Amino acid sequence: MGPKKGLGQHFLFDERILQKEASWADCKGKRVLEIGAGEGNLSRYIAKEAGHLVLVEIDRKLCKVLQEKFGNRKNVRIVCGDILEEEGIRHEHFDVIVGNIPYYITSDIVFMLAKMDFSRAILCVQLEYAEKMAALAGSHNYGRLSVTAQAQFEIELLDIVPPSAFSPAPKVNSAIIQLVRTGKVITEEDGKIITALFCHRRQSVKKAIFNSRKLLGIEKAEAHDIRKRVKYAERKVFTLTPEEVAELCPSLRSLMRT
Ligand code: SAH
Repeated sequence: MGPKKGLGQHFLFDERILQKEASWADCKGKRVLEIGAGEGNLSRYIAKEAGHLVLVEIDRKLCKVLQEKFGNRKNVRIVCGDILEEEGIRHEHFDVIVGNIPYYITSDIVFMLAKMDFSRAILCVQLEYAEKMAALAGSHNYGRLSVTAQAQFEIELLDIVPPSAFSPAPKVNSAIIQLVRTGKVITEEDGKIITALFCHRRQSVKKAIFNSRKLLGIEKAEAHDIRKRVKYAERKVFTLTPEEVAELCPSLRSLMRT
């Protein structure tokens, strides 16, 4: 059986890009986690350098391949499972996290990373996703994802990877990005506020609050009152920087409670 599309299996085989990715990851002597190791194309480069490398892969067939390739290396541990379910690994410390990650769960992985203990992540993601993550306030691509990602990470776009570097080739361009944790984590409550605001990204903050009152769980009269007193009331939602959103959230929360 060939690659499983449902698991986002597109194997990166361009050696030049793999090499570059490994050198950005800079894993010498470090504790490294690779998410979705596949057939071990990237792992091969990392295993040579890392002090300790944990490979996570969900597909049993591929785990077998990884076992054959890396089973005898003392610095490599292979975990066959779903990265989103591996509680133990999510609580370990890693210096570097790498992965050409499955695109169908990019958001889940990024939100998981925000809560993990690591210094740097080098990931290959869909280009469009990378552009949304890194978009500047006021720009076309700027939205909920940009705000939450930029609050939690410093994001750098390192390279663009064409479909032809993968087998099978995906339909879209990809990008290699670096994430460095800021140390801040968006709480579920603030996540809800950000969603509510950015559903109406072209509107003013006060209008967006009124229109999203159901999502926010507030009554019409309360929404009327809050929208007059909230910080940045007159600004268009999509022009608010992540820092301004970080001020707006507690302002709105305190008004919602009184
Ligand atoms: N890193 C490899 C494979 C990339 S494809 C390479 O560059 O060639 C993405 C990989 O993630 C696939 O091997 C897929 O089986 C695996 N995968 C998909 N969902 C996963 C999950 N929830 N947890 C861990 N691995 C997953």
